[in-house]
Amino acid sequence: MTSLRTLVAARRWMPGTACQVCTAWQRDTLCRACRLRFRPTGHRCRCCAASLTGLDAVCGVCTLRPPAFDRALAALDYAYPWDGLVTRFKFGGACELAVPLAQRMAEALRLAAAQPDFVWPEVLLPVPLSDQRQRERGYNQAWELARRVGPALGVPAQARWVERVIDTPHQIGLPRAERLHNLSGAFAVTSAGRAGLAGRSVAILDDVMTTGATLQELAATLRRAGVWRVQAWVLARTVRDDAGP
Ligand SMILES: [Zn+2]
Ligand SMILES: [Zn+2]
Repeated sequence: MTSLRTLVAARRWMPGTACQVCTAWQRDTLCRACRLRFRPTGHRCRCCAASLTGLDAVCGVCTLRPPAFDRALAALDYAYPWDGLVTRFKFGGACELAVPLAQRMAEALRLAAAQPDFVWPEVLLPVPLSDQRQRERGYNQAWELARRVGPALGVPAQARWVERVIDTPHQIGLPRAERLHNLSGAFAVTSAGRAGLAGRSVAILDDVMTTGATLQELAATLRRAGVWRVQAWVLARTVRDDAGP
């Protein structure tokens, strides 16, 4: 009969890990059951990736006020269990969660690419952090995603083509207009970026899209630098409030 000690020893040496959601011991950081149970369903606005209940391609807000990016794609809803994982990834130092979260993004983007109007970008640009914020956090969560999503999809990721020249206070809880005001002039295209971006089709990548103000400001900066098409790729999209994208 197998002793308890043998079972404990076997478990210790069995390759695997605890699922970050249900804690089941298995092969992946997020188990298959949780991936299926919490997979995104439903239809999103092609401009801002907000969940839509109807069949319209574009939401009312984007029809009235189109964003500076051409389309947005979100892998997940910013809701349980993904909100907790993203918070740990972004604010709790759990940089290793970039691996399973980037896999969710790559999966969702492969599905999106099957749509007839999808155009692959030529380059992937993570939303940059200011030097100070990056020093505090130790890493840029958008780059940690982009450097995995890019190779998985065959799109080169460039960390140094845009930079954040003005740090902004945390924007959590601020309305869109105030966020946009705070972000005005926050981004700049670097000299390497100026050479590489004119006339190109790009995707900017961020972890969470709330009002979309950050992506809006970065996309507008890229447009001024001559970028032809801008997509916004985000890991998670919040359920939209009245402020819109
Ligand atoms: Zn699980
Ligand atoms: Zn929209």
